[in-house]
Amino acid sequence: MPLSAPSGAMRERVRIAIQKSGRLAEPARALLSSCGLSWRESRDRLFCHGDSTPIDLLLVRDDDIPGLLAEGTCDLGIVGRNVLLERASGYGTGEVPPFREWRGLGFGACRLALAVPQAWSDSQAAALDGLRIATSYPALVSQWLKERGIAADVVTLSGSVEIAPRLGTADLICDIVSSGATLAANQLRATDIVLDSEAVLAGPVAPFGDARAEIAGLFLRRLDAVLGLRDSKLLMFQTDSANVPALMALLPDAERPTVMQVDGTDRVALQAVCRGTVTWQRLEDLKRAGADALLVLPVERMLA
Ligand code: ATP
Ligand code: ZN
Repeated sequence: MPLSAPSGAMRERVRIAIQKSGRLAEPARALLSSCGLSWRESRDRLFCHGDSTPIDLLLVRDDDIPGLLAEGTCDLGIVGRNVLLERASGYGTGEVPPFREWRGLGFGACRLALAVPQAWSDSQAAALDGLRIATSYPALVSQWLKERGIAADVVTLSGSVEIAPRLGTADLICDIVSSGATLAANQLRATDIVLDSEAVLAGPVAPFGDARAEIAGLFLRRLDAVLGLRDSKLLMFQTDSANVPALMALLPDAERPTVMQVDGTDRVALQAVCRGTVTWQRLEDLKRAGADALLVLPVERMLA
């Protein structure tokens, strides 16, 4: 298995690490597939050879991705910003992490937030000096405290952070929150947000010095096209030509609309790609302004 190539060696294939199983695993695979990547599934499901493009997959624990990037075992990775920045914040002053965020990917959204016992008053929750904060993100929390001049103690726990206040091992916590249900079940409430997170594409700070530069460039162009189209829809309708200016005013996000005369009438058919969400409300507004036969279609690919 070609996993042992020394870092820094010339390589002609790009290796992307993604989570093997967990919250980011399926959306990451789906995103890569929509960029035209496909793989031969291997039995051990740790390494998948890229079929259609010279881009291979490495399936790992999400926490391992920054380290694999740092040592050059993988070239790119899809990981939560929380995990990437925790590792980056762990580099000492004067040291520069060899990886960075290349793109936000729009899935896996969550927040790293402080949470205090529900019984605490707001003023209690705002005075953290001398208190103990349990977290799995000690570097990010320490940095956040330092930036605010707060002298609290950071207690590093690898799991079950939310029960620390009840066990008496900490006074409050800093943990990943999405719905808040876990916090509520532990009689905690979120206060300050330390980090807004989502899945990101991470890559090296230094450019690739070999064939990987071109492969990664092609992948990024496809990725940007896919991310840019996420909410885009093709909107089609007919109307009297006199209504066109009023209708266009309702479509500020329409790109390069095409207007076609309907033969032998003063009716036109109009089509445009809309970047913003096309809601029922917008369709009803268009209808009122004279559009009919409205059709909204998903945009699968676009090469501008
Ligand atoms: P692994 O076995 O790969 O270590 P894990 O248990 O650490 O998995 P997951 O729970 O699958 O990881 O979470 C992966 C990422 O998903 C998190 O780092 C975070 O960026 C994101 N995420 C989104 N919502 C949540 C949530 N409610 N709780 C935890 N993580 C979330
Ligand atoms: Zn993990």
